[in-house]
Amino acid sequence: MSWIQRVLYGPARPSVGSWKPLRFDSGAFHLKGTAELARALLVLRLCAWPPLVSHGLALQAWSQRLLGSRLSGALLRASIYGQFVAGETTEEVKGCVQQLQALGLRPLLAVPTEEEPDSIAKTGEAWYEGNLNTMLHCVDLSRALMDNPNPAGKSLMQLKVTALTMPLTTPFQKELTSWIQRPGASSELNPKRLAEAMDSGKDLQVSCLNAAQSQHLQASLNRLHRVAQRARAQHVRLLVDAEYTFINPALSLLVAALALRWNSPREGGPWVWNTYQAYLKDTHERLERDAEAAHKAGLAFGVKLVRGAYLEKERAVSTLQGTKDQTQPDYEATNMSYSHCLELMLRHVSNHGPSCHLMVASHNEESVHQATKRMWELGIPLDGTVCFGQLLGMCDHVSLALGQAGYAVYKSIPYGCLEEVIPYLIRRAQENRSVLQGARREQALLSEELWRRLLGRKA
Ligand SMILES: Cc1cc2nc3c(=O)[nH]c(=O)nc-3n(C[C@H](O)[C@H](O)[C@H](O)COP(=O)(O)OP(=O)(O)OC[C@H]3O[C@@H](n4cnc5c(N)ncnc54)[C@H](O)[C@@H]3O)c2cc1C
Repeated sequence: MSWIQRVLYGPARPSVGSWKPLRFDSGAFHLKGTAELARALLVLRLCAWPPLVSHGLALQAWSQRLLGSRLSGALLRASIYGQFVAGETTEEVKGCVQQLQALGLRPLLAVPTEEEPDSIAKTGEAWYEGNLNTMLHCVDLSRALMDNPNPAGKSLMQLKVTALTMPLTTPFQKELTSWIQRPGASSELNPKRLAEAMDSGKDLQVSCLNAAQSQHLQASLNRLHRVAQRARAQHVRLLVDAEYTFINPALSLLVAALALRWNSPREGGPWVWNTYQAYLKDTHERLERDAEAAHKAGLAFGVKLVRGAYLEKERAVSTLQGTKDQTQPDYEATNMSYSHCLELMLRHVSNHGPSCHLMVASHNEESVHQATKRMWELGIPLDGTVCFGQLLGMCDHVSLALGQAGYAVYKSIPYGCLEEVIPYLIRRAQENRSVLQGARREQALLSEELWRRLLGRKA
């Protein structure tokens, strides 16, 4: 780091004044319309009802048959789709984002794709090429959506690598993952070799893969390279989603290859971030090792820190296969792990300035309190290299309080046509069952604010 960078971004001193905890109460709802609040309350109540989440797909098919696709579509648009999705067309997405920006929030676009294809049409190279075009469009849209004048590097988007390379139902990712974990595999499959193959576009020979799989790997690398190239040109940072433990090592290898190519601090990196799931027992250790390795290699480092969304499936798979459960034993252990990872990353940001970026992707009020308090103690600016992330339609009382206080807050926004997004939403709701059931506090705050308005009481 040069002395100018040290002065500008080096370990900062504690901020002036005293730290005040943010109030996550119904106060922030005064920014929202009554109809919006009523819809949020209705949808969150419905989503906390287990049979609706468990049988969501069957209920949707049943309502289509009974009411016809027009009426059932209108009902969904007025409820779940309207609550959690930005819209279908570019204009609808822009409208939704403008509303968020007026509330001090930023967009984090996420293309909804299913990682378990349910039709033959979704296998084969053509499906990934179609997804590539959707991702490239998402990059352009992410750039176009930011406020003017555009703060370069403040546009972020989520990237699901399994939309561009073979999904779980094929053995490809699993094979790659088990190969990576074998001793000696690193000489053949390492980030440097993959990064070179991405740059040159030349075929990569890997002994564990057959000809068709090698071809697919090369095509996947080309797709990833094209998305990263476009993102860099458009000043959009790519936040790669973490998925299941049986494919994460393969995904992380691909992210490491992208990072080598695109995370130079001289070029304003990190442009490619990885996601770390605190519900896994080894996450703190991995995070520490990866942060150190990036620093030693002179690379910038970007992290989206989450608790993890696939708990039920992870445990079911380990029970089925008789393998060791890699997840934390209970909710408290996950919380502790999240807190340790958060502390590690905030210290890293404080020590390494602009070359280390962090998104605190959580709805948990304790985690958000911890982050804001430690940011203040470590002198990390509110709108610098640390930001917060929450899902569209969830925990608005937390997002709005953060946004109003001047922190950088992103809402993860899926968009797309009803037919494609509803199955995706139902699957997400099934994975996040515990979160939706835990949204009781948000429901209580929403109903408190609605009653206040109904009775005409002052805020
Ligand atoms: C912007 C954004 C991006 C995201 N990206 C990803 C991603 O790439 N990959 C991904 O996996 N998830 C992702 N998630 C989802 C995330 O992992 C969590 O599922 C979700 O945010 C709920 O956690 P929380 O911290 O918000 O809230 P909380 O309600 O405090 O935590 C709920 C979480 O705690 C954990 N938990 C609950 N019960 C137990 C238990 N009995 N034992 C152990 N742990 C338990 C689970 O991880 C559960 O999801 C993302 C979330 C956001 C907001």
